Amino acid sequence: MMTGFPALMYYFWVSLEFHEGRLFFPESYTKEGLSDFFWNEYVGKIVEAGLPNWTAAKIYLGYALFSFILAWVMPGPVVEGLPIPSLKGKRLKYVCNGLSSWYLVLALSAVLHVTGIFRLTEIIDNFGPIMSVAICWGFTMTTLVCISGYVQGTNHRMSGNFFYDYFMGGPLNPRIGPVDLKMWAEIRLPWVILFYCSLSCLLKQYELDGKVTGPAAFMVLAHFLYVNACQKGEECIPTSWDMFYEKDGFMLIFWNMAGVPFTYCYASIYLMKYQLSTGTAITHSLPYTVALFTALLLAYWVFDTGNSQKNRFRMEQNGSFIVRKTFPQLPWGHIKNPSYIKTEHGNLLLTSGWWGIARKPHYTADLVMAISWGLITGFGSFLPYFYFCFFLVVLTHRVSRDMERCAKKYGKDWERYCERVPYIFVPYVF
Ligand code: NDP
Repeated sequence: MMTGFPALMYYFWVSLEFHEGRLFFPESYTKEGLSDFFWNEYVGKIVEAGLPNWTAAKIYLGYALFSFILAWVMPGPVVEGLPIPSLKGKRLKYVCNGLSSWYLVLALSAVLHVTGIFRLTEIIDNFGPIMSVAICWGFTMTTLVCISGYVQGTNHRMSGNFFYDYFMGGPLNPRIGPVDLKMWAEIRLPWVILFYCSLSCLLKQYELDGKVTGPAAFMVLAHFLYVNACQKGEECIPTSWDMFYEKDGFMLIFWNMAGVPFTYCYASIYLMKYQLSTGTAITHSLPYTVALFTALLLAYWVFDTGNSQKNRFRMEQNGSFIVRKTFPQLPWGHIKNPSYIKTEHGNLLLTSGWWGIARKPHYTADLVMAISWGLITGFGSFLPYFYFCFFLVVLTHRVSRDMERCAKKYGKDWERYCERVPYIFVPYVF
């Protein structure tokens, strides 16, 4: 995975950059044909237009550093994570300043763009080199965190196999000053960069054509909603599995630094590259476009309120619940007097709201959003659907691991819960 992911990202990038988003294959499968394909069609194209350069480094690392400084200095409410067994039950504090940082970044980027100091279209103009810088940074940061784990003696649950440990990580909660590196990597970079990739494509379209199409606007809205959801609900993240249990290794670091922003954005990049190479922008009929906007907004509502119903319910139990007036607060995001199942373990399992309808309502909504990102580009390329396919595998794998874990953790109570809420994704279907 550590070599395959970057290699695949480059393959998809060459497809987008040089083949209008079509996957490309060797013309012949002889030794010479394969060698020509590899060296000329693949490596040659990366060398031609995808290597890291100074401009790309300034854009990516400049933003990374800036977002780190914001995570250090910006104001925000403080919440406590779950008690950590390896720290003798200590609860770490997290400053939730994602939202104030996000608004500041939005305002500053608008000023930079309008004044011409940094045109946001430079992101799409330098997409390949920026992706390369992100890939290099993913490896660099993983290595630095790994070394710091050995030096400070903060590694946990190590297998002894170097590659496996590098992949899964050593330290659980690496921090620099008040900044939790896992939390920073999880929400401050990937989603924000993803949003700016889409915004850059939209602005480029406006520069070229003097107008903006429905699909380009759709992608900006979709990514805005996602990044905004992460920032406005940041206080729910410290108690999540990733923060509480997963270690800070290649899996989390690389995926957040490079994987999410530079593979989840294919729909926007495809729309842009298609227009650049054919001179025609992809558009759809009004009913098709309106149907997709409606599906996106409805799915977002279920995703947002599904996550907040459960997280707020849990936060009320563990005493970390805080009322935040972040935008938007959607109807049904907080259930008063919910029904639940009391477990012998002590935890309560919510059975009200979306959680009375299915066991993973927020996954279903997330998947609907994911497929809408592909559908808005039409059916000319597989790449805009890559995110949906990948995500489907990730979430079904996550569901099976989670169900197994909960069945073990809650025993008979989990069986009662499954009888009470029998469907996982869609009521009466699955
Ligand atoms: P969940 O939000 O599903 O959390 C699972 C945990 O919640 C369970 O282990 C259990 O923990 C607790 N739980 C389960 N059922 C109940 C219940 N009825 N009442 C109370 N607690 C319950 O998992 P994720 O962290 O995977 O997902 C969070 C969001 O992030 C989702 O919307 C998902 O789609 C999204 N996501 C997006 C990704 C992306 O790349 N775009 C990647 C991964 C996730 P306990 O042991 O405490 O009981």
